[in-house]
Amino acid sequence: MLLHALIPASRANGPGLRAVVFFQGCSVGCVGCWNSRTHPFHGAEVPVDVVAQDLVRAQAQHTLEGVTFSGGEPMQQADSLLRLIQGLHQQAPELSFGMFSGYAEHELAKGRYWTWGDGSSEQHRRRLWQEIRACLDFAVVGRFNQAQPGSQPLRTTRNQVLRLFSHRYTPADFSEELTEVSIKEGGRAEVTGFPTRGLPW
Ligand code: SF4
Repeated sequence: MLLHALIPASRANGPGLRAVVFFQGCSVGCVGCWNSRTHPFHGAEVPVDVVAQDLVRAQAQHTLEGVTFSGGEPMQQADSLLRLIQGLHQQAPELSFGMFSGYAEHELAKGRYWTWGDGSSEQHRRRLWQEIRACLDFAVVGRFNQAQPGSQPLRTTRNQVLRLFSHRYTPADFSEELTEVSIKEGGRAEVTGFPTRGLPW
């Protein structure tokens, strides 16, 4: 899979303490996207099982509640995403799973999304979404639309929808939007969460 970044522990990307996997690559093209460095489909290609091992290590180190998939566009690497979720579910069944996707749910359900590098059929993509959806506890779906700014939990624009696919969470489990800044060794700052006026996005 093409990986942009992995944050081992975050409180800004869903309920509780979660690892965040940022897929590299997105062709959806939302105007004003604040994460354009994740758009090109090139960079670090990492085996799915290596990413899974890193996440299991992070889970042991931080007692994570779950993993959130972001990007980039996770559904444009749907095969890898499904294999990653299935591998994690086997190794750490207590983890919950969430996802941010720029696609609307009806596009995903009809297989009307593009996938990187495989030329898969609509039927295959429909089945992939059904399998991924069955594993997810929540997803935020829909384009970033800068004409409709919003501030509901995990949603930057009002058209985006928070979907709960299991009984694990209720809407009350999703806190207000947070911006998280981690200072790494060597002083490098890593910013995740949601754009706030005045921050350098
Ligand atoms: S789907 Fe996400 S990463 Fe892709 S352009 Fe839209 S906001 Fe940016």
